[in-house]
Amino acid sequence: MAVVSGRGGAGKTSIVASFALLAKRKVLVDCDVEAANLHLILTPTVEHEEDFCAGGKARIRPERCTACGFCMRLCRFGAIFFKEEMGKTPGMAKPVIRRLLCNGCKLCVRICPEEAIDFEPHVESRMLVSKTDYGPMVHARLGMDLKNAGQLVAAVRKKARSVAAEKGLDQVIIDGSSGFGLAVSQSITGTDLVLAVFEPNVSGEQDFLRLAELTAHFRIPLMVCVNKWDLNKEMTEKIEDLTIERNARPLGRVRYDRNVANAMIAGKSVVEFARGGAADDIRKLWEKISES
Ligand code: SF4
Ligand code: SF4
Repeated sequence: MAVVSGRGGAGKTSIVASFALLAKRKVLVDCDVEAANLHLILTPTVEHEEDFCAGGKARIRPERCTACGFCMRLCRFGAIFFKEEMGKTPGMAKPVIRRLLCNGCKLCVRICPEEAIDFEPHVESRMLVSKTDYGPMVHARLGMDLKNAGQLVAAVRKKARSVAAEKGLDQVIIDGSSGFGLAVSQSITGTDLVLAVFEPNVSGEQDFLRLAELTAHFRIPLMVCVNKWDLNKEMTEKIEDLTIERNARPLGRVRYDRNVANAMIAGKSVVEFARGGAADDIRKLWEKISES
């Protein structure tokens, strides 16, 4: 199951952290790699780390290059140019690669007749498998290369499946990426259920419409929770009506409760930190999911 929202701050991580306590036999996954914060509540202890490679840059070895110029003519990104001082012989220019323009397509590596171009994989992100009080958790540390977030999410999902298989666990609970880009698609593809969390305002309504389209495209059942529903009852009802119209299920409402923020500050899930209020609402959400 993936828990998602159209934008950060809608409350999905508080809900996932509570589900972490309520669910049995599960792997927890933080796919919100661009704004990861589940670890702040679950305080994982890292047991295994690995590099995540996505893309890289080409690099020319001038000593092997015969300056035939194939690579420069074929590079669609204009990343290769000839430079006089790169050649050992005066007057003989050799190619160099502008790293900022190279998109790592590897075409030049494949076509160079002298095998003079190497490919340097780019490693900035890390994948982590950790132990928490609530079960194993798979998460990531995203480097500066934000355009690879979608691929990193796919790799984190794959790792979570292998951890679940290895430990004989039958549920995977995903704190999904926010927004609507590749990372959120990678967070939800292949799941059995998406729980979308919205706040009752115009942004929440717009986010619902876009997420409903996305889940319909992937044919994944969608359940909807309106968080802080009592701040705008009219908009809550509107989002729930739209949910029914789009053949999704309004799962429940979570009221505004200061204990949600207090639990975050204390590094605890709401259901662990408080009784009544939002904690009760979240327990009811989980009961309904378990029954469905
Ligand atoms: S294709 Fe290879 S040999 Fe030809 S210019 Fe490029 S790097 Fe040099
Ligand atoms: S890897 Fe692709 S983009 Fe980079 S220099 Fe080679 S051909 Fe150009």
